[in-house]
Amino acid sequence: MLGFPVALLTANAFEWYAHKVWLHEYPRKHRNSPFFSHIRHHKRVRLNGFEDEHYTMPMFQDQEIFNEKVALIGLCAVFTPTVAVAPFFTAGIYYSAWQYWHKHSKAHLQPEWARTQLPWHYDHHMNTHQDANWCVTRPWFDYLMGTRVIGDDSVAETNPLGMALPGWLERPVNRVARRLLPKAFQRLDANRHSEHGRRQRGEVEEIAA
Ligand SMILES: [Zn+2]
Ligand SMILES: [Zn+2]
Ligand SMILES: [Zn+2]
Repeated sequence: MLGFPVALLTANAFEWYAHKVWLHEYPRKHRNSPFFSHIRHHKRVRLNGFEDEHYTMPMFQDQEIFNEKVALIGLCAVFTPTVAVAPFFTAGIYYSAWQYWHKHSKAHLQPEWARTQLPWHYDHHMNTHQDANWCVTRPWFDYLMGTRVIGDDSVAETNPLGMALPGWLERPVNRVARRLLPKAFQRLDANRHSEHGRRQRGEVEEIAA
């Protein structure tokens, strides 16, 4: 049973790392790599108010969609042997891969849903600086690593789990989180503050492509 939440955490860490290193850092240095399609995804999203119509295309007609699906299917394939020893872990990996595809594609076809329901990914694309907010499904590792940059307080998640919790549960969750990770919350407040400052000064950095 414990395997399921462990898999969700593993997948979230992988989201953070792969998005940052493989999809942003690597293609900037290697423009001809297939991962460069992610830089194009960023460009389209900026030009179209968060929408990316490529998410309506079949995977064999579009490089970005192809890459994303192959990566997710590959991740599932790699972890499939664990089913023999930790079936809940395997199930958690499958679930995470599905969540990634479902949320990312829905977000870029329904920008208003993304702005309010997936604010961390909306901020990833629409903030003044696009090299932060690496998690897509839930913002967990961005909180842990100090890379969550909140753009709009009125729609931002109100707890680090990025889940809608009733007040009686959310208050203790936030209390415990702040006690366990005081540095992470200092970063969160500082990041929010500097994003607001950059917006006021109109300091917008477009991704180099
Ligand atoms: Zn990105
Ligand atoms: Zn595309
Ligand atoms: Zn995106």
